[in-house]
Amino acid sequence: MVTIPEQLPFITPLHTSWYQPYVLTADMLRLDAIHPVVSGNKWYKLKHNIADAVARGCDFILTFGGPYSNHLVATAAAAKAFNIKSVGVVRGINNPSNKLTPTLQTCIDYGMSLVHVAKSDFDNVDANELIKSIGMEAERAFEIPMGGANESGRVGCEDIAAYIEAKYTHVCVAVGTGTTLAGIRNALPVEQTVLGYAPMKKGEYLNDEIRVFLNPDKKESFTIFDNWHGGGFGKWTNHLISFMNTFYKTNQIPLDIVYTGKMMLGILEQLKAGYFPVDAKILCIHTGGLQGNVSVGEQLIY
Ligand SMILES: *Cc1c(COP(=O)(O)O)cnc(C)c1O
Repeated sequence: MVTIPEQLPFITPLHTSWYQPYVLTADMLRLDAIHPVVSGNKWYKLKHNIADAVARGCDFILTFGGPYSNHLVATAAAAKAFNIKSVGVVRGINNPSNKLTPTLQTCIDYGMSLVHVAKSDFDNVDANELIKSIGMEAERAFEIPMGGANESGRVGCEDIAAYIEAKYTHVCVAVGTGTTLAGIRNALPVEQTVLGYAPMKKGEYLNDEIRVFLNPDKKESFTIFDNWHGGGFGKWTNHLISFMNTFYKTNQIPLDIVYTGKMMLGILEQLKAGYFPVDAKILCIHTGGLQGNVSVGEQLIY
């Protein structure tokens, strides 16, 4: 039996001391709570993809990611739940003297076969050749792009809007490929402001990538901020770690180091700088990703 999500998303109010006197309300939509591994937005991006793979009678799902990829491990767990095999193409050669990352070990535990590809080849890897090299048939594969960034992924993310009440004036979400933001933006009324927080340097390129997938009346109705990358994708500062620990003490909500930690730090700085109108009602989306916190070691208090 398929048991994803294990729990439906819910809303947790943030502690008033976190957002007063700057705005009326700030709540968090807890997509992180839906499953320990297929967490947050990843499930919404995968659900139609995996259903399609099963419906088409494919033998296995092929997808791609780095050694700490939330998408890779979510795909491994979701594929297992749907009783379909999975193959993960991993960025970076696995040095036998190095242990696998906990993320990749979990992928294997869920039955995913991993193929490691040198970083320099990863972007141009020939999927057909690669499938042949592991003795599988390319015609039997269902390929999901890195990060679940395809039309089925965007459509799946439209369902997240069902948890966003009309009372919220501002909806904040972390952005990687922009698939989640695009789905949410298309599904929400244009009156609701959608803000995206990019965890990488020069994230403004996402504006053009996302706009392509937005409905005609929504094309200009979103804003991407890239001021809180903290040194680049997957990088972090001591300031970010101590912010995340303080956020946990105040709100009892664990954030992830790659996406939601940077977003919430950005929102706090925007609150203090008076970016939001005082009558704003903010909904921050917790997109999950907590498994990736293993890369930080012991510095987080949760
Ligand atoms: C993958 C991920 C994102 C980015 O989602 P996109 O749809 O690629 O923009 C945001 N937050 C978390 C926690 C993620 O794991």
